[in-house]
Amino acid sequence: RFITFEGGEGVGKSTQVRRLLVNLDRHSISAVRTREPGGTPKAEAIRSFILQGRSEAWGAGAEAVLFAAARLDHVNQLIAPNLAKGTWVISDRFCDSTRAYQGLTGGVDDTLIDALEVLALDGHTPDLTIVLDMDPEIAFQRVAQRAVEDGLALTGDRFEKEELDWHKRLRQNFIDIARNNRDRCYVISANQSEDAIEQAIWELVTDRFP
Ligand code: C5P
Repeated sequence: RFITFEGGEGVGKSTQVRRLLVNLDRHSISAVRTREPGGTPKAEAIRSFILQGRSEAWGAGAEAVLFAAARLDHVNQLIAPNLAKGTWVISDRFCDSTRAYQGLTGGVDDTLIDALEVLALDGHTPDLTIVLDMDPEIAFQRVAQRAVEDGLALTGDRFEKEELDWHKRLRQNFIDIARNNRDRCYVISANQSEDAIEQAIWELVTDRFP
């Protein structure tokens, strides 16, 4: 089984990925945890190259192409081999993030995103995608808090307003993607306690894969 987690910034994906792995382990299901952008050494190199060099702004189109290259390596080296031997793969972000960030937010054309997806997935569409959906105001506050903790400068009213709008758009993008892929996407509210979210995810997973 191939399960992906998607959603905006600060919605708690990583925590829930870890918790799902613990639950799978308790039921003696072997699973690997991975993430995107990244997941393999080559793909992680592309991740740091883009995310750390963001000030140099490659632009959404080049980002989409580079993330697709990273994804192809990730699929070939990690995802496909694990699925082939029956190990579940749980990824923190996958192809829907490219569609949300570089496509719908970044303005890269749908047909290009579709083509890159076909190339990079090589037939490995997720069996289940969990979209964590959080009130953008809360998500924004969490991201801002993290930035303060990391010692990054922030704030200024105008900046905050633009940021919040950006989080709102991003949230809507993931909702739209989920609507367009009802066969595999489920939206779970992340405006609940971590335990409640974990429970909802576990019910969904055991329901889908009895
Ligand atoms: O999921 P995570 O927080 O690790 O993502 C790291 C960063 O990568 C996020 O800030 C997100 O904005 C960015 N990202 C992106 N395009 C993607 C995937 C992630 O800009 N396709």
